[in-house]
Amino acid sequence: MTTARAATLVGPERLEIREYPIPEVAPDGALMRIGLGGVCGTDVKYYRGRIDMPYPVILGHEIFGRIERLGSEAARIHGVAEGDRVVLKGSRGCGHCRDCRAGAPRFCPRRTAYGSRTSAADPPHLFGGLADYLYVNPDAMLFKVGDGLSDEAAVLCGSVMANGYQWAVLHGGATFGDTVLIQGPGQQGLACTWAARCAGAARVLVSGAAADADRLALCRAWGADAVIDADADDVVEAVADFTGGAMADVVVDVSGSPDALASSVAALRRRGTLVLAGLTGGGRRVPVEIDALVWNEIRLQGAFTAGSTALEATMALVEATGFDVASMVSHTFGLDDTELCIRAVGGEIDGMYPVKAVIRP
Ligand SMILES: [Zn+2]
Ligand SMILES: [Zn+2]
Repeated sequence: MTTARAATLVGPERLEIREYPIPEVAPDGALMRIGLGGVCGTDVKYYRGRIDMPYPVILGHEIFGRIERLGSEAARIHGVAEGDRVVLKGSRGCGHCRDCRAGAPRFCPRRTAYGSRTSAADPPHLFGGLADYLYVNPDAMLFKVGDGLSDEAAVLCGSVMANGYQWAVLHGGATFGDTVLIQGPGQQGLACTWAARCAGAARVLVSGAAADADRLALCRAWGADAVIDADADDVVEAVADFTGGAMADVVVDVSGSPDALASSVAALRRRGTLVLAGLTGGGRRVPVEIDALVWNEIRLQGAFTAGSTALEATMALVEATGFDVASMVSHTFGLDDTELCIRAVGGEIDGMYPVKAVIRP
């Protein structure tokens, strides 16, 4: 093969499968053959133009594949060999800016941002995971995948499952005996349910809309003690009933719904922690009762991705326990159906509402 297909966003709601030449691999570069690319709600926001993008951009930031070609220096940089199965997640950044020096390269303006903020305009072009191939820059972070993990498990551990651990446990502090409320029963809510359960939470509650009945049932299978239909029942009252008035120690709001914020705050006990991880897009603003946060000493933590510690811990735990993370995958599409896949994830396609969709190019 001399060309690679890639799902390229050229403007809001303008997605094209473009062909790019397969690039030469520089000594510090590598070429990855994509095995699976995950699609999440953020891709829907990119597609709809609700987040600024340097068009054209190849989508796909949940990336699993195999190292096909490896430059002589890249083997040393990444500690991998040709043929290795790897997850690509995030970037080391430039190493010199204030964010990089503070240990937060995910904010580095000079990092390679696969599937989002690195344009496909210039060679080697291939900076997104919804494609046949991807070009590995020297700052990319690669994680070797153990033989005990399926392709599906690998791509999920590198994205949504690591988020669950980062948000519910590392940010939220969920631990033995806690009551954890998760607002939003989609892929991120499922992962947070699993993580809170693994961390020793005594009670895990998940809320969702009436239309989410299937997802809520899956949350129960993944360890939730109770689920709340937020269209039929008041979420705050339900938490009060379930906890005898003690309320939640941790709320993880992955709903992406501005309307959920008020109940997320009200469902917390004093000194509880609210982790806000669902993007709403489009610069949405929501009124919040400030005094409720002040009086109750609520800790509010924004969270947009998982770090490498979360990813490696998640991979290790899933591989060791054999937990069936792949049961989250409800839909697998080919690359030519990327637009359909993203619109389905966004809830635009009648009769098709994936819990987790992946693309196998
Ligand atoms: Zn994602
Ligand atoms: Zn930097």
